[in-house]
Amino acid sequence: MKHIRNFCIIAHIDHGKSTLADRLLDFTNTVTEREKQDQLLDSMDLERERGITIKSHAIQMEYTYEGQEYILNLIDTPGHVDFSYEVSRSIAACEGALLIVDAAQSIQAQTISNLYLALENDLEIIPVLNKVDLPSANPEEVTDDIVDLLGCDPEEVIHASGKTGFGVDNILAAVIERIPAPKGSPDEPLQALIFDSVYNPFRGVETYFRVINGAIKKGQEIKFVATGKKYYADEVGTLKLNQVVKKEIKTGDVGYLITGIKDAREVKVGDTITDAKNPTKNAIEGFEDVKPMVFAGIYPVDTEDYEELRNSMEKLQLNDASLVFTPESSAALGFGFRCGFLGMLHMEIIQERLEREFNMTVITTVPNVSYHAFTKKNPDEIIIVNNPSDLPDPSGLDRVEEPYIKATIITKADFVGNVMSLCIEKRGQITNQTYLTTERVELSFDMPLAEIVFDFYDRLKTVSKGYASFDYSPIGMRASKLVRVDILLNAQPVDALSALIHFDNAYNIGKKMCEKLKELIPRQQFDIPIQAAIGAKIISRETIKALRKDVTAKCYGGDISRKRKLLEKQKKGKKRMRQVGNVEIPQQAFMAVLKLN
Ligand code: GDP
Ligand code: MG
Repeated sequence: MKHIRNFCIIAHIDHGKSTLADRLLDFTNTVTEREKQDQLLDSMDLERERGITIKSHAIQMEYTYEGQEYILNLIDTPGHVDFSYEVSRSIAACEGALLIVDAAQSIQAQTISNLYLALENDLEIIPVLNKVDLPSANPEEVTDDIVDLLGCDPEEVIHASGKTGFGVDNILAAVIERIPAPKGSPDEPLQALIFDSVYNPFRGVETYFRVINGAIKKGQEIKFVATGKKYYADEVGTLKLNQVVKKEIKTGDVGYLITGIKDAREVKVGDTITDAKNPTKNAIEGFEDVKPMVFAGIYPVDTEDYEELRNSMEKLQLNDASLVFTPESSAALGFGFRCGFLGMLHMEIIQERLEREFNMTVITTVPNVSYHAFTKKNPDEIIIVNNPSDLPDPSGLDRVEEPYIKATIITKADFVGNVMSLCIEKRGQITNQTYLTTERVELSFDMPLAEIVFDFYDRLKTVSKGYASFDYSPIGMRASKLVRVDILLNAQPVDALSALIHFDNAYNIGKKMCEKLKELIPRQQFDIPIQAAIGAKIISRETIKALRKDVTAKCYGGDISRKRKLLEKQKKGKKRMRQVGNVEIPQQAFMAVLKLN
């Protein structure tokens, strides 16, 4: 135990976590020449292509320092806020963290929120100034920023480059010298923290854990505290590039567990593993079920593919426990599913995985948060509205409540005005403003969650030139003056285009929706009126003018292959179209409400 070090790498996205992790693996000879490839720990194809880490991964290195052999468990964490719960679990499994800061970009949004998470967990922080090889690097200034942020000495900041490998030896030395060895007692009942799990189609769910007290042995009967379920530890081992089977994983160490579980929902990140017969009295604190934040409908492009879509979603859920879905039907789109996601990125990833791994072509509708509605008849009974079309009729509606969050934003003094205007535009109310230094300001707002799930991060980044860190926590439901804005195409309401919008913005957004749809819906053989309405009241109107001629008409009698090509092209374009009444609507139109600014 004395010679184990458990640490993670935290950073703002793109500051070089995964690349630096690769260098650590090289330097400790954890990977052979043959196994080498970039961003080794990002094993999903999607992770490689997008260059982002979606799942956390752990890897064990052996390193001899001053004649003593050490075991270093590195936990790579995802940088995107949609997956912040996983970051917090990874952090809880460590005693130390490398805080990576890009020498050209300096401290950014997630640098600070991840640092706070690490400090809350009492981790030893090792600041690393990365990408010093870049011509645009600004080492002195950025070191000052780091020193300001951490209150450390400039000498404690390690200069490094994940690209050239410069400084990697100093990082390893710091990990060993500055990060404390794990504490914990080998004699107490087993207590292990689950910080991640992955789905393997052949072996079932692989659970990654960190042993706090006791040990976990092959064949042992174990219990998951939050779910109460018992299993046998069929296999335990450590995580090198490949898994290495062991008889037992001892106090302080990190490993994997295979129990034959086939459904990802049975293994919950943050849960405690203990011995079934001699359970620990203290479950590790802070277990939370991950709650979906954003809901949207997913429909097959071809109505006949509904059953196949259901099968695919069920398989995907075995693999991704944070995906939830229930069947729903839409007058416009037929049968599909209402799905819950952790955030917008998660939603995009699910859609992409459905297409790649299951060959499904789907339509995703306008995302929304989860509302509470109350009727005049039954003002105490909560009606959960995960789909705007489930909102009870306005005449019988008593009130609607929406989820609120406390948003904390840290920015430079220069950008306070911009950040405030943005938050006020997003219906935020400022609750606090503190100058951390003369340069850095912390702002707190109460804001509707609905306003931040869509384009808030992008807007915040733009108005602050990237100098704003943002974090939020839910503070409950609040009554809001929300109305449902419906869209009618050719006088037919299209339920999948309805959205719940604050009354004060409804006219403006209704108008913009009509304009946007006019742009996105292709012209057809007849005029198509587009209307936005609140109840029976039309608030805006546009018209898509009819096409003058059939595109194939001019090919008559002429070149047949050219005509076939044209038809082929039209068919391809149709792939993501949905026929609603006699109007064809492309996929982008369903998401139009998100891109109104
Ligand atoms: P992550 O999002 O924090 O995991 O960042 P990545 O490791 O994926 O790196 C983001 C980008 O920065 C990639 O294009 C890397 O090639 C590049 N990068 C990472 N480290 C360095 C470095 O030390 N020097 C230079 N010049 N580029 C780097
Ligand atoms: Mg990465």
